[in-house]
Amino acid sequence: MAAAQVQRMSRLMVKTLRDDPADAETLSHKLLVRAGYVRRNAAGIWTWLPLGKKVLDNISNIVREEMDAIGAQEVLLPALLPKEAYEASGRWEEYGDLLFRLKDRKGADYLLGPTHEEIFTQTVKDQCTSYKDLPVMLYQIQTKYRDEARPRSGVLRGREFQMKDSYSFDTTDEGLAESYALHREAYRKIFARLGLDYRIVSAVSGAMGGSASEEFLAPAAAGEDTFVDCPACEYAANTEAVTFVAEAVDASGVGPVEELDTPDTPTIESLAAHLGVPASATLKNLLVKVDGEIVAVGVPGDREVDLGKLGEHLAPAVVELVTAEDFVGRPDLVRGYVGPQGLEKVRYIADPRVAPGTAWVTGANRSDTHARNVVCGRDFSVDDYLDVVVVEEGDPCPACGAGLRLDRAIEIGHIFQLGRKYADTFQLDVLGQQGKPVRVTMGSYGIGISRAVAALAEQTADAAGLCWPAEVAPADVHVVAAGKALQTEVALDAASQLAAAGLRVLVDDRAGVSPGVKFTDAELLGVPKILVAGRRAGEGVLELKDRRTGEREELSVGEAVARLR
Ligand code: ATP
Ligand code: MG
Ligand code: MG
Ligand code: MG
Repeated sequence: MAAAQVQRMSRLMVKTLRDDPADAETLSHKLLVRAGYVRRNAAGIWTWLPLGKKVLDNISNIVREEMDAIGAQEVLLPALLPKEAYEASGRWEEYGDLLFRLKDRKGADYLLGPTHEEIFTQTVKDQCTSYKDLPVMLYQIQTKYRDEARPRSGVLRGREFQMKDSYSFDTTDEGLAESYALHREAYRKIFARLGLDYRIVSAVSGAMGGSASEEFLAPAAAGEDTFVDCPACEYAANTEAVTFVAEAVDASGVGPVEELDTPDTPTIESLAAHLGVPASATLKNLLVKVDGEIVAVGVPGDREVDLGKLGEHLAPAVVELVTAEDFVGRPDLVRGYVGPQGLEKVRYIADPRVAPGTAWVTGANRSDTHARNVVCGRDFSVDDYLDVVVVEEGDPCPACGAGLRLDRAIEIGHIFQLGRKYADTFQLDVLGQQGKPVRVTMGSYGIGISRAVAALAEQTADAAGLCWPAEVAPADVHVVAAGKALQTEVALDAASQLAAAGLRVLVDDRAGVSPGVKFTDAELLGVPKILVAGRRAGEGVLELKDRRTGEREELSVGEAVARLR
């Protein structure tokens, strides 16, 4: 067997930092920078340093192996794309500010690809002409570009990032379902091999009439997605997908909004007097606007407006009642309020799927003010809108009725049955069995490769630093020469024996660096096993430490090789 390489720290470009970078908000951002895995060039733009590149490549290779295993073929499309295909699909407009656009020397418009449905559709139209050429599944591992509104959190949300995107092409709906199922299974294998804790959730609501789509979510506090899961059954969903829960719950009690005949601009007191209730009353069937903004919504049978609390909140603001007309033709009066974390705990005020004036539900947690009639595009992007939360902790599970839990997660993968949307745009047909053209049906499937590095860091790191699962770690074992020339000699010898046994070895042979600093660095870098040549190196005794559990044992080099190979 060819010996794996020994990577010597004395020659490795890695500069560890003791302090967190000032701009870092998430654990993975802090640790990946401190451990010298990545370096920030600009907002959302990152350099992968040698150790980071190894982790990135390990993840890519796992993804590649599992995609190859389901028969997908690897290709590489350009990232620099002429605008025409995106104009044809409507996404040149739709994407708005998310697209990086540029012009060539002749003034023609280009974009940097954010995702590649259009170009894959064109590719297959060009390459496949008969039903015999299908089904076909294609994938690439490529740099993607999205001018994200909030490129925070290090490589979790880059403006330039690595994605594996694949696309399936079938002639029948059953074929598409099969290609989708193959991808779903491949993704399960991939995320298991990566060592990620993940959940599969439905990404679009049945009520929306969308085609099948599921997200792979890695639970983590740093996640920007909220999902619900049921403690009592298997049910889990992106919160966007559970709109129907609230709808189902509220449907019984929701009637037409009652329009009250009141003075134009009542205060809380005059409003209460007008309604013939004390200023502390709790009311249903009432919508209230303050200074032009909707601040409270009550519906019969469910939510209520507590006038007292409203007054406390808003006095001495001027209050006016909202009428149903306020919502007519305003699907942008989106369910929500902006909390300290941005858009969160969002409830819907107006729902575009509901006839104007019929069903308004709320229940916004009023404790932290900021009720706003948030407007899509002004207050948040369409992307964020898709993440709008419409359920609350404790709402009933649509499957079994138990109280739902709300959790944060990182979207690491997303699979879609697209159907014929893009095939229609580009008239992607193949010659069918009967000699007639058949319209192709498609799926698209993404994994955030660079995001997975950060998601893994989030889930596995501890107080001492990174702590990689075996398959993605930049090395299998980190040998530390904790001492002078003798220890260095023993460490290098151990390193070459381990490498000869096929292990990937990092050895800290740096001269003039104290054992203490080397130990701290080893913990920070997060290689799963640490082998120390220290005090008893002269007797041929080393110490093997498990990075995760902290368990240690003394053994010889031969025993270490046998243990680790
Ligand atoms: P998000 O909801 O986080 O913005 P998305 O739904 O826009 O992601 P998709 O279009 O579904 O992303 O892309 C497929 C995958 O690419 C995502 O599941 C995610 O893992 C990854 N990804 C998307 N945007 C980014 C980004 N800005 N930086 C890193 N990875 C990303
Ligand atoms: Mg996005
Ligand atoms: Mg998403
Ligand atoms: Mg997605």
